[in-house]
Amino acid sequence: DQHRAPDYLAGLNPEQRLAVETLNGPVLVLAGAGTGKTRVLTTRIAHILATGSAYPSQILAVTFTNKAAREMKERVGVLVGGAVEGMPWMGTFHSIGVKLLRRHAELAGLRSDFTILDTDDVVRLIKQLIQAEGLDDKRWPAKQFAGMVDTWKNKGLTPPDIAEGDARAFANGKGRELYAAYQARLRTLNACDFGDLLLHPIAIFRKNPDLLKEYHGKFRYILVDEYQDTNTAQYMWLRLLAQRPKDIPQNVCCVGDDDQSIYGWRGAEVDNILRFEKDFPGAKVIKLERNYRSTEHILGAAGHLIAHNEGRLGKTLFTDRSDPDDEKVVVHAAWDSEEEARAVGEEIENLQRGKHKLNDMAILVRASFQMREFEDRFVTLGLNYRVIGGPRFYERLEIRDAMAYFRMVCQPSDDLAFERIINTPKRGLGDTTVRYLHDYARARDIPMLQAAADLIETDEMKPKARKALFDVVTDFRRWQGLLENMAHTTLAEQILDESGYTAMWQNDKSAEAPGRLENLKELVRSMEAFESMRGFLEHVSLVMDAENNENLDAVSIMTLHSAKGLEFDTVFLPGWEEGLFPHQRALDEGGRSGLEEERRLAYVGLTRAKHRCHIWFVSNRRIHGLWQSTMPSRFLDELPAAHVDVAASDSNYGGYGGRGGYGQSRFDKAEPFANNYSTPGWKRAQANKTDATRDNWGTRSGHAVERIGYGESGPRTRTIDG
Ligand code: ATP
Ligand code: MG
Repeated sequence: DQHRAPDYLAGLNPEQRLAVETLNGPVLVLAGAGTGKTRVLTTRIAHILATGSAYPSQILAVTFTNKAAREMKERVGVLVGGAVEGMPWMGTFHSIGVKLLRRHAELAGLRSDFTILDTDDVVRLIKQLIQAEGLDDKRWPAKQFAGMVDTWKNKGLTPPDIAEGDARAFANGKGRELYAAYQARLRTLNACDFGDLLLHPIAIFRKNPDLLKEYHGKFRYILVDEYQDTNTAQYMWLRLLAQRPKDIPQNVCCVGDDDQSIYGWRGAEVDNILRFEKDFPGAKVIKLERNYRSTEHILGAAGHLIAHNEGRLGKTLFTDRSDPDDEKVVVHAAWDSEEEARAVGEEIENLQRGKHKLNDMAILVRASFQMREFEDRFVTLGLNYRVIGGPRFYERLEIRDAMAYFRMVCQPSDDLAFERIINTPKRGLGDTTVRYLHDYARARDIPMLQAAADLIETDEMKPKARKALFDVVTDFRRWQGLLENMAHTTLAEQILDESGYTAMWQNDKSAEAPGRLENLKELVRSMEAFESMRGFLEHVSLVMDAENNENLDAVSIMTLHSAKGLEFDTVFLPGWEEGLFPHQRALDEGGRSGLEEERRLAYVGLTRAKHRCHIWFVSNRRIHGLWQSTMPSRFLDELPAAHVDVAASDSNYGGYGGRGGYGQSRFDKAEPFANNYSTPGWKRAQANKTDATRDNWGTRSGHAVERIGYGESGPRTRTIDG
């Protein structure tokens, strides 16, 4: 009865309304980006509360981030008119898992004050176990095993579930035993890791049917956003809570979009969408096809791109929002990433002059190292920015470590820097030694490095520590001596190599390690713009001082992965080049799935935009520390000409357009977007690419050849280390 519908239902389309009002029984909303899935969930909660169908504490709502949970809570409050008191079960799978586990810790053999270990703790613990087994922890790195355990846990596998073959891959077949020993050790320590936050509740529910039954009664409504990115363990957990005995209705509502499944690399199983109808017979599947977010051009571009994926459930999307004034998606070319950042900065300033708010703009990058160039540029321009979903570039762990080395070289009395890196990488200088050094230095009012230099002349140190300290002191003295006599970027590389810091990450088998190495290279690269290492350090302290304040009007910078679910008026998508996007790692994997996940990521990026979307690619980018002539991303060719404009070259540099490059061939001939691989510019780019050496930075003896640009006659190179 339309005209008596409460306010919060007004404005919903019939399908959305059906999804909101079908409170009883399983519901799956399967729909494309911007069709109001999240809005349906929020309104559904409002509806549950407004109709008195449940108390806030009886609603279990899973969001992908804690921030999304907070926002959802706020919006529900607005819809029902007044703050919602206590929605204790709204949060991420992990945050809900912790809460359950704290309540029932004893059923998992823990006390309710158990600690949650971070990745570093986990690795340290595993290393001890590997050593206790009498295994060589160099041959069988703890990090690698930690990664295996994480994968098993994402799949919901406990030690007895591990197949012989799987476990044999590690430590001569001792993998399963080690996993079991690890779990036992965690229990002794009254601790658990992230995976346990899901696995323990699953085990508890399985072993205690009565308790599970209690929760079946308690959680009258279960809602899950971003359902396409649940992993197997999360799905098992969900199924336990949602599949109920016949007398209790299965009020579970999941919303998702198979085209936005972007966490496959972390164990997400898009097949969970397909299983839903099987596991919840009689589920009502609702499709939403009207997009409320984006213009026809943006939607057209995104839809055409994603149609290149084969593994899709397939959906249609339309929008009423078409206005002849709408801008098409614009593809821009730049010479290199510096020019890219400069041009994006200009574009943002133009929009700002047109009274657009910075808050409505976002830069979405494929890899976090790309952020640095934008952050630097914005600091120079005085444009406020914030980095979402991760630390700002110069706040990253590996960057702070590296900077601590540089600070020590420029300013030997920087004790904070000294303490940060004295045992990073591990040099066998334990806390006792560091404390001793500290006290010694304090008592004499000298810097710690000086204290170390003094102490190695005495007998006060154990031989091992003394040798380690001797090496550190010698290294720093040598680097300090080079400071005035060597190119500072070369010295920076040398410091990171000779200290063993680069090697530390090269030997690290965790998923983040390659990204950290990329960031380190980007750090060295960013120093080129400065005269000296000191000048650079000063710049960084200014960048670090820039405000990261919630209330500030500021451009958002984030990775495509963390942009999920968000929307902005204007979106900038830089770095659409082969090897970066799609990322080389996905291409190396071979097969379709890696590439298709990259394409879904592109789809997520495009569909974040409401009104304007600007894509960039550069002709030269430093990847793995070396300049490479790059090829525009294949995704550019997959965009439909009808919805895309190619910007006349923004480049002020070196007659880029005259190089027969990408841009020209494309707009001059006004040909459709496919088939332009045959133009001379492309051929040349490809030829140049083949002789580009990958990644010889970071080896101590490496003779890094750095490409600084291409003339018509081919690459010019210069050696940077002698
Ligand atoms: P994503 O797949 O990106 O997570 P989504 O399907 O969750 O997208 P929402 O974020 O819920 O989509 O909605 C997209 C935008 O459309 C939001 O600004 C939302 O407020 C708006 N919207 C959704 N439904 C309606 C509607 N019926 N009327 C007006 N605006 C709507
Ligand atoms: Mg959403």
